[in-house]
Amino acid sequence: MAGFIAHLDADAFYVSAERVRHADLANKPVGVLGNNGACVIAKSYEMKAKGVKTGTPIWDAAKMCPEGVYVKRDFYWYEVLSRKMLGIVGTFSPKLEYYSIDEFFFHAEPLRHGQQLATTATTIRDHILEATGLPVTIGIARTRTLAKLFSDTGKPFGAVAVLTRDHERELLAKMPVTEISGIGGKRADRLAPYGIRTCLDLADADGRLVKRLLTKTGHEIWMELNGEPVMPIRPERPPHQVLGRGGSLMGNVEDPKVLWAWCVRHVERLIEELRYHNVRTTTLAVEVGWKDQGWTGGTSNSPTPTDRIDELLDLARASLRRAYVTGRTATHMQVKATELRRGKGFQLSLFDKPDPKKDKLATVKAAINEKYGRFKVRTATTLYLPAVYRDPANEYDICDVRGKVCF
Ligand SMILES: [Mg+2]
Repeated sequence: MAGFIAHLDADAFYVSAERVRHADLANKPVGVLGNNGACVIAKSYEMKAKGVKTGTPIWDAAKMCPEGVYVKRDFYWYEVLSRKMLGIVGTFSPKLEYYSIDEFFFHAEPLRHGQQLATTATTIRDHILEATGLPVTIGIARTRTLAKLFSDTGKPFGAVAVLTRDHERELLAKMPVTEISGIGGKRADRLAPYGIRTCLDLADADGRLVKRLLTKTGHEIWMELNGEPVMPIRPERPPHQVLGRGGSLMGNVEDPKVLWAWCVRHVERLIEELRYHNVRTTTLAVEVGWKDQGWTGGTSNSPTPTDRIDELLDLARASLRRAYVTGRTATHMQVKATELRRGKGFQLSLFDKPDPKKDKLATVKAAINEKYGRFKVRTATTLYLPAVYRDPANEYDICDVRGKVCF
């Protein structure tokens, strides 16, 4: 018979990470705020009990939980702890997937011959708390879908091993189908007319019906719910098809100069990423999110793959111009490199002149920033964003954490 899969998930990870370095936050209601300090992006169980949710604006949260302690997020620190967990979990299982910043999947094997898997889960959980200060929950089951479901219900600080069909069915009957990640409102609505409300209803439904209602992915979930592992553990991140950088503009942006400054900032971040993965791109897309008016995008191409700022900014300028709509208010932006080419085999076309001087300049810039801190040397256009660069909380974003499968 096939082996078992474990899902490990840190409890209230951002809050727990803050408690690792600020012991006085223990047992207090703590909220972690997003990059512009406007919304709660993570909360402690004490704060959750007061009704504060992920996404609650700070002014509402402060009313619901006036005694709460609110801190700004620091993804750099969270990644330090995330890698520490990754290292420890790796000592328990070589086949390990870095799924998200605080979640891992791995093959569950007894640590000692004859040990019960429930004991294995408890041992790993306790070891991680001792070594990192982070409380985690572990679920062990026959498939990754089941392992994740059972660890979610085991929170906080749980260690559950669900190894038999009877035990699975007993728990699945109590879980609404929306507990499965990816089965949100719309998909659940499609299932409801067929009387499929709990995870067990879905597992017991006809596989062909599930495929018709939820496509191939839904059918895979159905198989996994029935204990058939079809979603493997992916120890390596699949190769990138697209690399992107972007996010909220930290408020409303009407001035095209400021919009361009954001674009340049994202291109500089994207170049770090291209260099890290040793890829270049021929295609750069810029997408702008407008206040209450959706998104628009523009794309431009270069004849040869590049990771150089002067060339990428030429592409970005043309793409932003295509995406730009006069008179609208921008709130978000994404800059994406599609059409990635691996490091070896770059070839200049007949019309390209190699430019060793500009390549050197890029290397020096990267070296200085590596040594003295991100954005120490940056394009002058980004001077239009003084507040963004003044606040060290903005130096590092969640998507700067490398290697995880899921963002
Ligand atoms: Mg978590």
